Amino acid sequence: MIPSVLPTYSRAPLTFVKGEGSWMIEADGRRFLDLGAGIAVNVLGHANPVLVDALTTQAGKLWHVSNLYNIEQQQGLADKLVAATFADTAFFTNSGTEACELAVKMVRKYWYEKEQPERTEIIAFEGAFHGRSSAGIAAAGSEKMTKGFGPLLPGFAQVPWGDLDAVSASITDQTAAVIVEPVQGEGGIRPMEDATLKDLRTICDDAGILLILDEVQCGMGRTGRLFAHEWAGIAPDVMMVAKGIGGGFPLGAVLANEKAASGMIAGTHGSTYGGNPLACAVGCAVVDTVADPAFLEEVNRKAGLLRQKLEGLVAAYPDVFETVRGAGLMLGLKCKPACTDVVSAGYDNEVITVPAADNVVRLLPPLNIEDDDISEAVKRLEAAAAQVAAAAKE
Ligand code: PLP
Repeated sequence: MIPSVLPTYSRAPLTFVKGEGSWMIEADGRRFLDLGAGIAVNVLGHANPVLVDALTTQAGKLWHVSNLYNIEQQQGLADKLVAATFADTAFFTNSGTEACELAVKMVRKYWYEKEQPERTEIIAFEGAFHGRSSAGIAAAGSEKMTKGFGPLLPGFAQVPWGDLDAVSASITDQTAAVIVEPVQGEGGIRPMEDATLKDLRTICDDAGILLILDEVQCGMGRTGRLFAHEWAGIAPDVMMVAKGIGGGFPLGAVLANEKAASGMIAGTHGSTYGGNPLACAVGCAVVDTVADPAFLEEVNRKAGLLRQKLEGLVAAYPDVFETVRGAGLMLGLKCKPACTDVVSAGYDNEVITVPAADNVVRLLPPLNIEDDDISEAVKRLEAAAAQVAAAAKE
């Protein structure tokens, strides 16, 4: 009999009932160190008092109001994002997938308004993840995500990860844009080199096409800058944001420059909940905290500490780990045995990690994880590695 919850997830046998900072408490009382943060969502940890206050204060005033009216918190959050980034304008969504939908619509509308409506194609990279909607799966293009869900939304092409020659060769007079995650998350924590991202911007400029960055997973301070592309010194035309921006409250956004957004006039897009007062009140508190240079400096320091300890772990368990890679607090351990075995052994040792493609275990802790918790987490990962190594010898 089909379960009452549609069984689209393979769930670990864990039920968390409470969170405190970088810790999650299971129904049986066990305390887990959370290096997953809800897959890069809980950027300020669990039950952060600043976010609890932002949410509950707003909850006592006004939960929801239609986008038929001005929404103060939404305006406030848009102003903050415009001030802190390349963007001239923002549209709020409830998720990264919805941000993908708008990004696709926006770049197509841009060309329609420029009287080149045939320019609809978007070039994406293999291993990408842009969400599970019809546009999201068509963009990623992998068999795993698209099989059985045809006909796929047309207008997407994929090129090998980081292959700029392939990008150039794929650009035609029907190309609208290129979409890329500066650090692929689901694809296995694969950072695009700064120089490559820079060259990709140049290729887009030379061809006159738009560049969409998907910073749903790698944005909001995760790599030690507010957004990952800042390391490369470039700016996109359109950027998808979600996950961390709500700190655990469902919130996403599309940020864009004026040129790219110019076709999106009244009536061209909308959302009932997108940019609702509760979400934006929390979003404002997250952005105020994360965009602070002192906070980001701490993220970089903590990232250095974690990475150094992980290098030691990889060196100590060469049969379990091949390498550590990533940027900031978005790190991946490339495994030799199945990465899911390492994640499961982590559960046994009360540390949460997240599997990804390319046999990588993802580490995406809260950005404000305490130094002591970093040390304890690595001890637990070491115990997990020892368990996996011992099991392999049996
Ligand atoms: N884009 C990237 C890079 C993601 O990592 C994800 C989710 O994992 C998405 C888009 C989709 O976001 P959501 O699950 O909020 O719809």
